[in-house]
Formats: sequence, C-alpha cells, structure tokens
Amino acid sequence: MAEVKSDIEIARAADKKQIQAIGQKIGIPSEHLLPYGHDKAKISAEFIKSVKTNKDGRLILVTAINPTPAGEGKTTTTVGLGDGLNRIGKKAIVCIREASLGPNFGVKGGAAGGGYAQVVPMEDMNLHFTGDFHAITTAHNLLSALIDNHIYWGNELGIDIRRVVWRRVMDMNDRALREIICSLGGVANGFPREGGFDITVASEVMAILCLATDLKDLEKRLGDIIVAYRRDKSAVYARDLKADGAMAVLLKDAMQPNLVQTLENNPAFVHGGPFANIAHGCNSVVATTTALKLADYVVTEAGFGADLGAEKFFDIKCRKAGLKPAATVIVATVRAMKMNGGVKKEDLGKENVEAVKKGCANLGRHIENIRQFGVPAVVAINHFYSDTDAEIRAMKDYVASMGEEAILCKHWAHGSAGIEELANKVVALAESGSSQFAPLYPDAMPLFEKINTIVQRIYRGSEAIADKSVRDQLHAWEHAGYGHLPVCMAKTQYSFSTDPNLRGAPTGHTVPVREVRLSAGAGFIVVICGEVMTMPGLPKAPSSEKIFLNEMGQIEGLF
Ligand code: ADP
Ligand code: MG
Repeated sequence: MAEVKSDIEIARAADKKQIQAIGQKIGIPSEHLLPYGHDKAKISAEFIKSVKTNKDGRLILVTAINPTPAGEGKTTTTVGLGDGLNRIGKKAIVCIREASLGPNFGVKGGAAGGGYAQVVPMEDMNLHFTGDFHAITTAHNLLSALIDNHIYWGNELGIDIRRVVWRRVMDMNDRALREIICSLGGVANGFPREGGFDITVASEVMAILCLATDLKDLEKRLGDIIVAYRRDKSAVYARDLKADGAMAVLLKDAMQPNLVQTLENNPAFVHGGPFANIAHGCNSVVATTTALKLADYVVTEAGFGADLGAEKFFDIKCRKAGLKPAATVIVATVRAMKMNGGVKKEDLGKENVEAVKKGCANLGRHIENIRQFGVPAVVAINHFYSDTDAEIRAMKDYVASMGEEAILCKHWAHGSAGIEELANKVVALAESGSSQFAPLYPDAMPLFEKINTIVQRIYRGSEAIADKSVRDQLHAWEHAGYGHLPVCMAKTQYSFSTDPNLRGAPTGHTVPVREVRLSAGAGFIVVICGEVMTMPGLPKAPSSEKIFLNEMGQIEGLF
C-alpha cells in the first residue's frame, strides 16, 4: 500500500484557483463576490436576489447509516459526489456546513471531507473561516446581556429570573461553564441567578440563520425568540427587549453564503452549522436555494444517520424551504456494517463476511425509511483499504435483495475518478423524475402525534412515552398557536432506539420524551429523548496538545 497522506497534507498541496475563477464557473460576477483573502468569498445579497427567478437544479441529499466509531464519510462522499458530477459534465455545487471551532481541539475530525475529496482551504474552514460563528456568538450574547440589563434596570417586563431560558454561548468545549451563577458581586452587578453556556452551534440564532430566507425574515425570527417567562408563565420575546434589530445588524454578513472550492476546483458553498440534535443539522437554506439557481445539481449533507439527519432535512428544512429533493445517497461502509454486526473496533481489520451480513440490517432499515419520504435512494459504499471483495459483495447482494443498488466508491483515494459510477447513477435517478417527495407528517397533526409518527415509522419503536407535564406543555403550545410546527428530535445518533449501544435494527422499544423546548424563532419544537449535551467537554488528552505552527508558519496537527 502506498504511503497514505494526511488530510491536511493533501489539502496543503492543493492547486487552488482564485475564488473569482470559481465564482465565474457558476456565473457569479466578481463584483458580487466579497473576498476574504484569495480563496474564500461571500456572495452578495443583491446577486442572490437577482437569480431568484432562475430555474432550480436538482437537489441530492447525502445521508448515512447510524454512525459508528469506525467513521462513515458523509462529508467526504458529498464532496466526492460533487466532483464526480462535475467530472461527468454536470454543473454541480456542493453545500455543506461550517465547522465548529471548539471541538477541533477536543477529539473531533475536520468538517471539510477527507482524502482526495475535500474542500479547501480546510485550515480556515475548521478555524475562524469568514467569522460567521463569531458573529452568531456575538448576536446571541448581545441578547443575553440585554436580558440581564433589563432586569438590572427594574425589570419592567416582569421577567421571572428563575425562568430565563436564554443562556450564553461560546465556540469552545468548556464544561466549567455549563452551569454557572452570574451577576455575583453586589448591587452594581445585578441580581444573581443561575445561567450557563452552550456551544455556539447549539444557539437558536444558528438555527435561525440557517432557516431564514433573507435578512427581513432573519430579523422577524430573531424577534420571535422566547428569552424568558413571567411568573404567570407568559413568554417574553427578544422583540420585547428590542433586540432583534441590533442582532440582525450583527448577522448581516454572516447571512451571506461562503464560496470556496474542492480539491478539483469545483464550487462549494459552506454556510451555517446547526447542531444535529437540538437543531436540524443542515447547512443554510439561503446557500442551498441559491446553489439550486446556479447549478444542474446541488449535493448536500445532513448531520448524523438518516434516522435523525435525513428525517430533519426532509421534515424541517425541505418542508420550510419548499425544497424537493430528487435523490438520496445513503453512505455506508464495510467497517460500519461489521460493527453493527457485533465486531469490535480493534477487530475491524479482519475479514468477517458474516458480521457484514448481520450488520446490513441497519442499512436496510434506512433504505426503507428513505422510501417513506418518496425519494429514490442509492447506497454508496465508501471504500476503505481494509475492505475485502467478499465483504463488498455481501453488502451489494444485500442491497440488491432490497431492490436497490449499492455502488463502490473510491473518491477518498482517487477523487472524482473514483466516484463516476455513483455520479451516473444519481443523474439517472434524478432525471427519472421518480421522486415524489412528501414530508412524513402534515403540519396540522397534533404535536405528540408527530413525535409518535417518527418513533413508530422511522425508529420502529412501539411508542413515545411522556409524563403528563410534557403532554400538557405540548397542548399549551398548541393553544398558543405553535401546533403547526415540526418537531426536532434530539436523541442518540448511534441507534434507532434511545440506547446508544443497541446497534442494528431494533424494534418494539419505547422512546421516552424527557423534555420539550420551543424554538419559536427557528420554528420547531425540540423533543429531547435521553441526554443531550449542549456544551461538550474536552478529553483527558485533547487534540490541542498536538496542534502547533511549524517552522514555515503552517498549521500542523489539525487533522
Ligand atoms: P462524516 O461527515 O460522516 O462525519 P467525514 O466525511 O467527515 O464523515 O469523514 C470522517 C473522517 O473519515 C475524515 O477524517 C476522513 O478523512 C475519513 N475517511 C472518510 N472516508 C474514508 C475512506 N474511504 N478511507 C479512509 N478514511 C476515510
Ligand atoms: Mg460530516
């Protein structure tokens, strides 16, 4: 086997084109590109408005089986497929999320793809990039400051300081800030109360930025944010604090999608990055809808496995933005099938066809689920060096037995040349016009029934169970006019159940709903099933220990 280069080594050697040349490929004149250096640019609001009447291209979703520690490669496959489509003569744009900076210093890998299917400049993308997350952090914390300031100056709105639901955010894994007491130190510093920090990607402002259609809609949604409740439980909105205007000002540039390029100099929009548990886990609506106006094909990714990622992409993003996906690619790997079939991570190097066959049940379940949304699917086997022919054969046979096709893809090792077959298949599926996309449930369905529909039809559990207090809360929101909202499920990404260790395709489990939260600005109801961590911690030996600048001033150790 040839020496394997690291992602950052490959990215550094990229033959990048000036960003204006990339914009030109998709018809963005250079005066509408707002450059951040030579290889990144924002796209002007004026230009976005000017292409609104263009015909839409076809939207392709890349999703996956339930994640395993073996790694699946959704972003890698999204980027690879974008390059593959360009290679076979289609104009294609990749749309992915921006990376959260904090987790890079913990354990997480990068968010720009991998191997020969990457977006560059990956160092920038994984760090400060064009400053969008800093802007989101600042807008969020402005609102936090306004709440405590309002209380300090007499609390005219009657905020119950025990019921402030708006926390603070920063883009850093810092468990010390999860739960804090703020305003300590006497009269001059306000009224002490409990608070805490979440990571920026968990901010509702992030979800709002990703679902807003333009700056006006952004401002309206910011105003709709519920920041606290009064003693009588009535809601206090960001609008009541007159925060919406200033927050929108802070987010003005962050709302514009970022254009970068793949290793093969094809366009990629990298914009927004909401959490995939307490938010919907997709890149921005503005980026996706704009890309559709400029390309024949737009390839995008949704976070986590298809049970969470694809479901929310379809039921939240597509429903809200009126998007109609033409085809879905389900990424799976031989290694992940083996893990689903009971093999331990350290034994993944050994051939085990039986385990592959056993683990395929997880893949099969996701194939069936995608069908429920009416979107045609193809399986992409993301090839790893250790995969054997017999194992690949077993996966292909299994998928064929389900009436679909699995295609071996070698984009990680060979770029677009390794993924032509999948690109051709995606074109055939999309052009067949067979997609009959419809969300899983109608807007009018009662909220608890929406949860139950997802539990029974996607997770194949017996039912969702919830205490009376949770059901009462859902009823109260229905009476307050929020009953039409979709639900945003927050559960473990590792299993169809709420037990992360239960791999494969379990059935009959109950799904306990611990808590529900209203994200009135984003426009969904978060349904928390099990633990969700909105402020991660760092591991004992964080990856920051190996990150440094080399003698040439280049970044080492990022990935
Ligand atoms: P996801 O989007 O599903 O979280 P990524 O595409 O970001 O996954 O990939 C995670 C990591 O796995 C990256 O570091 C990438 O380089 C690596 N990876 C992806 N595909 C392969 C492959 N075929 N062989 C080896 N490593 C891979
Ligand atoms: Mg990814």
